[in-house]
Amino acid sequence: MKFGPVYKTPKTLLNKGTGFLSDYSHSLNPYTGCSFGCSYCYVRQMPVSTFRKEEWGTWVDVKKEAAEILRKELHKAKAKGKVTIFMSSSTDPYQPVEYKEKVTRSLLAVMADDPPDFLFVQTRSPLVRRDIDLLLLLKEKVRVSMTVETDLETVRKHFTPKAPPIAARLKTLELLAEAGVPTQATIAPVLPSSEAFPDKLKSLVDRVCVDDYFMGDGSGGKRTRSLGIRSLYEELGMEQWYDPAAYRIVQERLLTVFPGDKVLVSQKGFAP
Ligand code: SF4
Repeated sequence: MKFGPVYKTPKTLLNKGTGFLSDYSHSLNPYTGCSFGCSYCYVRQMPVSTFRKEEWGTWVDVKKEAAEILRKELHKAKAKGKVTIFMSSSTDPYQPVEYKEKVTRSLLAVMADDPPDFLFVQTRSPLVRRDIDLLLLLKEKVRVSMTVETDLETVRKHFTPKAPPIAARLKTLELLAEAGVPTQATIAPVLPSSEAFPDKLKSLVDRVCVDDYFMGDGSGGKRTRSLGIRSLYEELGMEQWYDPAAYRIVQERLLTVFPGDKVLVSQKGFAP
């Protein structure tokens, strides 16, 4: 970020689950913006980003009074029916500013007090390990899904230079599992990876999800195409991986070490 975060009180925190998240009653974003700024992130083409002058990845707004707002909204939503929450759809809930701001932690505390029927935590940050105490209070009503698009650190750096290293994410999955928090490794979007990748995951998780731009960007790959992602593959001489069938390479490799029902593809892998 160029300047410090901006603090804003949101009107609402729980949004209706739609499109790719239609299996959920709600989505929940503790922040607006994302400092990881991944090259392939299609949120940069959504209104949340296009209405801003600053480039996607350079700004983050911190949601003020988030816990109090969620407490009220969650209570109301639960009175109406089943509440399943996807956190987060257009940011990473474990932004670097979360170390200090603890917005996500405050939301987890609210949910530990008054649990939704299910909470899916989608992140690529090792910081989630700080909140193991709260995640455990949600018992089987939570799953932490750690994005691990590849096992190759050079590939990770090429596509997402500002995101946390792969080794730290794998270590975090190990710590979460040891503590008893339900987890999964989410290979999304599929980036070029090695044949050894499934073996590296096998001892850490019992469930994996595979997704790519073509199935998972909500536009059949169009959004990602217009980001010019292909050139990033070409720079690595790996354009064969920029293909609607490339996920099958990873899926087949995973199926050699994981049972079929534990290798989930696209939307199924993110469902409650
Ligand atoms: S972490 Fe997620 S929301 Fe943030 S830039 Fe990367 S893909 Fe986009």
